[in-house]
Amino acid sequence: MESADFVIIGAGIVGCSVAYHLAERRAGKIVVLERDEIGRGATAGAAGGIRLQFSSETNIRLSLLSFEYWEHFSDLFGVDIGLHQHGYLFLLTRPEHVVAFQSSLALQQSLGVPAEWVTPDDIARLQPAIRTDDLLGGTYCPRDGWCDPYSATMGFARAARELGVTISERRPVTGFEISDGRIRAVETPTGPIACGTAVLCTGPWTGVVGKLAGIALPVQPYRRMSFVTDRFDPVPKTVPMTIEYETSLYFHPEGDGFLFGMANPDEPPGFDKTVDPDWMRVTIEALCRRAPVFEQARIRRGWAGFYEVTPDHNPLIGWVEDIPGLAVAAGFSGHGFMHGPAVGRCMAELLLDGRAHSVDVSPFAPSRFHRGQLVPEQNVI
Ligand SMILES: Cc1cc2nc3c(=O)[nH]c(=O)nc-3n(C[C@H](O)[C@H](O)[C@H](O)COP(=O)(O)OP(=O)(O)OC[C@H]3O[C@@H](n4cnc5c(N)ncnc54)[C@H](O)[C@@H]3O)c2cc1C
Repeated sequence: MESADFVIIGAGIVGCSVAYHLAERRAGKIVVLERDEIGRGATAGAAGGIRLQFSSETNIRLSLLSFEYWEHFSDLFGVDIGLHQHGYLFLLTRPEHVVAFQSSLALQQSLGVPAEWVTPDDIARLQPAIRTDDLLGGTYCPRDGWCDPYSATMGFARAARELGVTISERRPVTGFEISDGRIRAVETPTGPIACGTAVLCTGPWTGVVGKLAGIALPVQPYRRMSFVTDRFDPVPKTVPMTIEYETSLYFHPEGDGFLFGMANPDEPPGFDKTVDPDWMRVTIEALCRRAPVFEQARIRRGWAGFYEVTPDHNPLIGWVEDIPGLAVAAGFSGHGFMHGPAVGRCMAELLLDGRAHSVDVSPFAPSRFHRGQLVPEQNVI
């Protein structure tokens, strides 16, 4: 029978980063099993946004650590990820959101994040394309930005392979061999692989794959759509990622056009990946309401991907309580791309040293859901 010390299930940004960081620590034989191709899951749908503006200390620290990778990616991995640090600008229209954001801002600043409060006049200077008459203010962090998820994922995958990791594409995990309550092997169509540890990095499919091991992991897939305009010059390409927090509408420059999207709050969970033309129309209307200049834009294309949502919008990072040998890093609820580098490092520490010391990720232990100790994240888009 084939065997490995670690089998990582899923080759998205998270699985590739976990594999790379384990290999960097010379953790033994590491195999990544991907049922599709590298980076074709949720990671393929990501808008590539990276930000430091979160409401919880753990997420801010995961962002700070990940930025050390994003800002030096080509030096570290020899890959250009097309990093643009034009900032994230949150627009606030409701008094209760102002209170929440000011509290998060104080926490961010105390941790060294260069975010600031901005008035409607400041906002008009930062983002001249938008209506500001209904705004109460906002927050802006110039260090935030966006980059290319596929190149970043391939950067981790290539570096992992160079360190001896085997990444097998089109080889799904179809079951688990569990005896005496412990993971012994993962099953695949081409035979089982015996392993000391299996790590679920299966993004939106984590609930489905968890069931194969007989456990209920609270990660649900939600369809999210993104759209890109044709070349669009009336708005400068230097404007920040702009988010209307109340509606979750966001847009940022992408190539010679703009990328935009908005969450449908009535969308039920599911694996439907078609683009909904009705929701596209609603999103375009919201964009043109906030930034009327986009009435002149033409849509080049749209696509749908999945958010991997947990009840508190934070991930499951750590050992699965009831099954020794099984760990999970999944359920990032829409911010898994940006946290991929830090999560890989923390997961390697947790698996090899017993705890993550780069960032204390214990608040995100999967067991919190059984204990009813949820840790909600407010800054979710
Ligand atoms: C429209 C949209 C915009 C987004 N924008 C952002 C953003 O701006 N910034 C950000 O940080 N995040 C964003 N996200 C979220 C981000 O895409 C995810 O949080 C992140 O990609 C999760 O990465 P992952 O590696 O955990 O999951 P995935 O990339 O989904 O990787 C999981 C992998 O597991 C594989 N798999 C599943 N089942 C099995 C099996 N049985 N055997 C083997 N392999 C299996 C899948 O094929 C997949 O490749 C966005 C998502 C969407 C949809």
